[in-house]
Amino acid sequence: MNLVTRHHELDERDAAQLILAIDRWLEREVKPVVKAYDHADRYPTPIVEQMKELGLFGATIGQGYGGLGLPARLYAEIVMRIAAVWMSITGIFNSHLMLALAIEKFGTEAQKQAWLPRLATGEVRGGLALTEPDAGTDLQAIRMTARRDGDHYVINGVKTWISNGIEGNCVALLVKTDPHAAQRHKGMSLFIAPKQAGFRVGRKLEKLGYKSIDSGELIFEDYRISADHLIGGVEGQGFYQATGGLELGRINVASRGVGIAEGALQLATEYAQIRKTFGKPICEHQAIQLKLGEMATRARAARLLTLDAAAAFDRGERCDMEAGMAKYFASEAALENSIESMRIHGAYGYSKEFDIERLYRDAPLTCIGEGTNEMQRIIIARQLIKRNPAS
Ligand SMILES: Cc1cc2nc3c(=O)[nH]c(=O)nc-3n(C[C@H](O)[C@H](O)[C@H](O)COP(=O)(O)OP(=O)(O)OC[C@H]3O[C@@H](n4cnc5c(N)ncnc54)[C@H](O)[C@@H]3O)c2cc1C
Repeated sequence: MNLVTRHHELDERDAAQLILAIDRWLEREVKPVVKAYDHADRYPTPIVEQMKELGLFGATIGQGYGGLGLPARLYAEIVMRIAAVWMSITGIFNSHLMLALAIEKFGTEAQKQAWLPRLATGEVRGGLALTEPDAGTDLQAIRMTARRDGDHYVINGVKTWISNGIEGNCVALLVKTDPHAAQRHKGMSLFIAPKQAGFRVGRKLEKLGYKSIDSGELIFEDYRISADHLIGGVEGQGFYQATGGLELGRINVASRGVGIAEGALQLATEYAQIRKTFGKPICEHQAIQLKLGEMATRARAARLLTLDAAAAFDRGERCDMEAGMAKYFASEAALENSIESMRIHGAYGYSKEFDIERLYRDAPLTCIGEGTNEMQRIIIARQLIKRNPAS
């Protein structure tokens, strides 16, 4: 089912059809192979091809540029469903869509025309390259530089932890165009950086979870690109552009958290009815019921917070507080539900033959990505104070 070519507003029926197509695909194509790919940490090329067919690489890209133009609420629902089965593959299109968002929101019309249609089909795939070995939360401390040379820039430095950095062919690259700027953020710029001479992969990073999707260290050595790759065409906007997509990015990660929290609950609910101890299914023991009750409440609260943030985003409201709350709560819910589900599974929860061990390994990343949960609480508090000045 290819929805990419359908250039009209999505109505309720289209949305229901899309969800149905995603559910069928998960059931038929993803569930049967997830363990094999995940345990081998192998890139799921056939699944990526199916994701192109489903239009996922253009999910939030405007229809005018060949994307589906999905509202955040529907996009969140799709991410939740996929993450309940396998979080890794959500990263393959989520991070890619952050690159697309930077271009669509801040790029020149020529950049949008040149890049968005190819990003929407998945012909060009990639992500956002911000983090460096010595700069994660403190993004303004990055060291990568871009030096102007006539109508080109020459870029040098190292990025790390970049999702889709190895299998993809393009990243949005945050650099310093003025490393000596008095206000550090004013010296930063964001480039569209396709793979070409001067851009190479240092190494693939090994991880606890989030397997199969590539996390790369990327090395830029005298990487030379024409100035028309500078997003928006003006230097000094990079910090603002790189963080300008964070509201949707956080809704993204919150949705992954909801998916894991719900997936873990579903596995536990099923297992608790099958496994018997002392002559009855363990779901009839009160200790297990208490766990299931808490897990169900947590998953539901995480879902509602996330849909609330997505609805605010769709209304065009500033929603960094709502997105921060959703991301913080849903990721912690993912962590707690995955370990509780594992406990309910007893020894089998620790077995690689069961799915819960994967959700348990994937959950912690949601507490780190798109701003750690320590930072989320600080962002929430700052907004809270800003919106409620003392009289
Ligand atoms: C699997 C994976 C995929 C990733 N994908 C990408 C990607 O595609 N692109 C990309 O650019 N990056 C990516 N990252 C990097 C990720 O965004 C960073 O790891 C994250 O921003 C945290 O940065 P850090 O690891 O350097 O931690 P640090 O910034 O060193 O933080 C360490 C600890 O200190 C806390 N801390 C830091 N500053 C403060 C403060 N002011 N107040 C309170 N607490 C503070 C943090 O919360 C954390 O607990 C990925 C990371 C992982 C693990």
